Amino acid sequence: MQKKHQLYPSKMKAMVMEAPGQPLVLKNLDVPKPAADQVLVKIIACGVCRTDLHIMDGELSRPKLPLVMGHEIIARVVRTGTTVLNLREGDLVGIPWLGYTCGKCRYCLKGMENLCENAQFTGYDIDGGYAEYTLAHQDYCFPLDPSYGNPTAASLMCAGLIGYRSYKMIDKNAKRIGLYGFGAAASLLIQLANWQKKEIYAFTRDEDRKAQQFALRLGAAWAGDSSQTPPKPMDASIIFAPVGPLIPKALQDVDKGGTVVCGGIHMSDIPSFPYDILWEERTLRSVANLTRMDATDYLAIAPKIPVKANITTFKLEEANMALEALRNGKLEGAAVLVMD
Ligand SMILES: [Zn+2]
Ligand SMILES: [Zn+2]
Repeated sequence: MQKKHQLYPSKMKAMVMEAPGQPLVLKNLDVPKPAADQVLVKIIACGVCRTDLHIMDGELSRPKLPLVMGHEIIARVVRTGTTVLNLREGDLVGIPWLGYTCGKCRYCLKGMENLCENAQFTGYDIDGGYAEYTLAHQDYCFPLDPSYGNPTAASLMCAGLIGYRSYKMIDKNAKRIGLYGFGAAASLLIQLANWQKKEIYAFTRDEDRKAQQFALRLGAAWAGDSSQTPPKPMDASIIFAPVGPLIPKALQDVDKGGTVVCGGIHMSDIPSFPYDILWEERTLRSVANLTRMDATDYLAIAPKIPVKANITTFKLEEANMALEALRNGKLEGAAVLVMD
């Protein structure tokens, strides 16, 4: 008997980056066909991430061009490649930044596939989610809890995951945790941290009372300006804002033996600082990308809490507007493009 496939059109709308420094352009593209190990998905929603701004601005300098950005994808599988066994048409999946790893390089062999030498990233090396359809490799799509089949889950696929990976890098016994920059990633991570009975200290841009109120509403123990000294030293901190001067500030605020994790993919230059703010066994580190294990673990725990994103929705055609709103810090929570 011949296998029946879901019907889908031959053309799709996509917002395309043609060159750095230019707005995205609405295009009518062919719906792509999956290779043997890929799936074609119909996109429900795709989050807009700060990384997309770094790509557009040329700060991440090697995107494929033309490029469909977008790596916080909530979608349903509409067609599977000939060798795909783990997914079926109709499955609800999330597609993150990590789009492919080789499994053979020295990083992959050490279990550090987030650092793979041959990695491909969704919405950077591979066309992503600012479109009605996209392709994904079967092993880099993550089944989602049915409660996450809507736009509110999009930012979990990057902001949620990078927050989770950053959080995993700090001592499990850390109680007082500083979050510098209270946008999408922090607003998701605080929910997990509160569930684990942590005390969150939210540091925002100076005078950003709105973000501070938002953090307090989500259960922060304290919220204030980044330039303020917190009432107690932090056991550990995570910096989400792409602002280099926050590194010496966070080191000053963290207790002896504490860790400061940088969660961003790009940051402005770090000013020089005296050694004594690092001394006494403070650790400064970054996190890069994610592993499939991070995604599997986080997407299992998030619906139990349940982690919910605060979102502002835009139509696909409004992607440039969504990016500008993110750039100007006008959003509380996350910008999400919703396809219909
Ligand atoms: Zn991202
Ligand atoms: Zn590799």
